[in-house]
Amino acid sequence: MEIQLKEISVRELVENFEDNAEAGVVGYGGKLDIRPPYQREFIYNDKQRDAVIDTITKEFPLNVMYWAVREDGNFEIIDGQQRTISICQYFNGDFSVDFSGNKLAFHNLTNDQKDQILNYKLTVYQCSGTDREKLDWFKTINIAGEKLTDQELRNAVYSGTWVTDAKKYFSKSGCVAYSIGSDYLNGTPIRQDYLETVINWVSGGEIEKYMSKHQHDQNAAALWRYFQDVITWVETTFTQKRKFMKGVDWGTLYNKYKDEQCNTEKIEKEIAKLILDDDVTKKSGIYPYILTHDEKHLSIRAFSDAIKQKVYEEQKGVCSKCREHFALEEMEADHITPWHEGGKTISENCQMLCKECNRRKSGK
Ligand SMILES: [Zn+2]
Repeated sequence: MEIQLKEISVRELVENFEDNAEAGVVGYGGKLDIRPPYQREFIYNDKQRDAVIDTITKEFPLNVMYWAVREDGNFEIIDGQQRTISICQYFNGDFSVDFSGNKLAFHNLTNDQKDQILNYKLTVYQCSGTDREKLDWFKTINIAGEKLTDQELRNAVYSGTWVTDAKKYFSKSGCVAYSIGSDYLNGTPIRQDYLETVINWVSGGEIEKYMSKHQHDQNAAALWRYFQDVITWVETTFTQKRKFMKGVDWGTLYNKYKDEQCNTEKIEKEIAKLILDDDVTKKSGIYPYILTHDEKHLSIRAFSDAIKQKVYEEQKGVCSKCREHFALEEMEADHITPWHEGGKTISENCQMLCKECNRRKSGK
């Protein structure tokens, strides 16, 4: 991997600056992707923005910025996006800054003042290398202030036709993936949560491998079709929409159970029963539980310390199985009738077992 230290003047940076909102922001003569299409919105506030211009007019140094070199020789900002946009917007006349009591936009400045800003040198590291090297490096330098999400970094590393097309479906505010998936997915498209989630599902957790494989595909239609399939499967398997469906690991369940025949009437009855069960403390876990019947998804309520203490006293510290005496902290509370056989988390259904007996009973 190669990392080059460059000095870039503001004059070079603002050349052909174009801000097309969600369609992307470019500068540096069109060679620098300041904000790729459908990436997150500009979030500096006025004070932070003014401080950038103030730093430049005072000739103080700005923190170093990081650009990735793309395959075609162009660049993409990895760190410094918001400082760069502040500079370009000021040059563009989008806002004014206080100069000893006067609010002045760039075009209000004297030629000397303009030149001072345009000649200011920014320190930029330009990095080129393999995808893996770049990703590792970006993760390391992705420091405070203008943090990119992991998926934003991956989009930069695996930039190309495929990711550009994928963003049209998954990364714009109000995108098609949002319109069909917002009841089932956490996060926001603009910070790449949707794209990350769907690639994670389709690849079984191998996001980078998948992106690397498809980097130069002409489009991302297959990913979009997969996403629609997952959502359709969710809606036809669990026919009643509920709030806590949001954030369930749907794709993983779809991958495993999509070919199984499901009785939706039976499923809805079971869900309704589990919702009413006070011992089920994690309602969103009902969906994976219905398919896997693994109780760990439900976070079945544990016995309280008060119940444990009471039952311990009643048993006089003697383990119900081996009949040996133990201290309270050497014992564990156990459901006499297991939860899945209808046993509740109440003192009448609690027995204190020594750790060894409890392990043996639960078969761990
Ligand atoms: Zn025991």
